[in-house]
Amino acid sequence: MKKISLLGATGSIGIQTLDIIRGHKESFQLVALSAGRNIEQVRKIVAEFRPDLVSVQEKSDCERLRAEFPGITFYHGAKGIEEVAVYDQAEILVNAVLGSVGLSPTLKAIQAGKTIAIANKETLVTAGHLVMGAAKQNNVPLLPVDSEHSAIFQALQGEQSKNIEQLILTASGGSFRDRKREELKDVTVKEALNHPNWSMGAKITIDSATMMNKGLEVIEAHWLFSIPYEKISVVLHKESIIHSMVEFHDTSIIAQLGTPDMRVPIQYALTYPDRLPHPAGKRLSLAQIGKLHFSEMDYDRFRCLKFAFDAGRAGGTMPTVLNAANEAAVSAFLDGKISFLQIEELIERVLDQHQTIGNPDLETIQAVDAETRKSVFSLI
Ligand code: MG
Repeated sequence: MKKISLLGATGSIGIQTLDIIRGHKESFQLVALSAGRNIEQVRKIVAEFRPDLVSVQEKSDCERLRAEFPGITFYHGAKGIEEVAVYDQAEILVNAVLGSVGLSPTLKAIQAGKTIAIANKETLVTAGHLVMGAAKQNNVPLLPVDSEHSAIFQALQGEQSKNIEQLILTASGGSFRDRKREELKDVTVKEALNHPNWSMGAKITIDSATMMNKGLEVIEAHWLFSIPYEKISVVLHKESIIHSMVEFHDTSIIAQLGTPDMRVPIQYALTYPDRLPHPAGKRLSLAQIGKLHFSEMDYDRFRCLKFAFDAGRAGGTMPTVLNAANEAAVSAFLDGKISFLQIEELIERVLDQHQTIGNPDLETIQAVDAETRKSVFSLI
């Protein structure tokens, strides 16, 4: 029985993680969770899974739940998330929170020796050197949940990293794959949220449409697999059947394939190095699909991908700025305050203004993150 803590239980990855736990009650037990303000959902989850420890965002919600569920410990706020992250009964932490707010609890969990299943890519983008350094120092495994990184991780089993020629990330192209740049001027939030292949949360669906998601994933891959940016490439693959690949020096390419279903990489992170059946999953029939398509990435069409490669190569606080500017701009777009193309315009402007600080510590990263959000909002 593997005991699991889950950060971000009511988000898209959180809900799908609960689905995996529910389907394998003999193997997994949810012992702690954190959530935001969706208290109706938290009630249902607590009643079903009976965790020991729960953290929510607001103090008032925390007090109400405490009265409703005696015997369960409730916390709230940032301190509460950290309590869930370091809970001593849990052996693995699934970090499915959104954005760089996941950084501090991730570092705390690593220091507490927890295995981390990381779905919170912004944490690795904003402070990859701190997270990987802490993981190494505390001998803690970081298991990828992102489908591309899970694919690469699976392709690397039994392999030696010295033999890697390149990592090849696949990109679906997002909601606006087939539109030209001129056609993006007046797109609506609703159109942007309509992803062709994957069912995901709002922020990541917008990130897919701007291709920033792939950019963040390039930086995530750099840190997770300790591979230089020159050895990471991206190919457009609209069917999302090949989830990513590794090419080796001998020209062999190992790919991982499957029907797009986030529960597969989540479950692999929870069962690794073992596997379990996934009865609710849809088996892939290549004969039925017939054809798979691939094409070069257009860096003028998808400018955010270029920003990410540049920020990654610049290093220091530049990826922190990239991520914070993106989080702020996407939230402004979702709130109807800016247009779709203004997301990348704003990101470009703050990146241009920033003087990178090398090897930043946690305080510097948090300060740069906060400053960046402020400058994005002042530009709007
Ligand atoms: Mg992904």
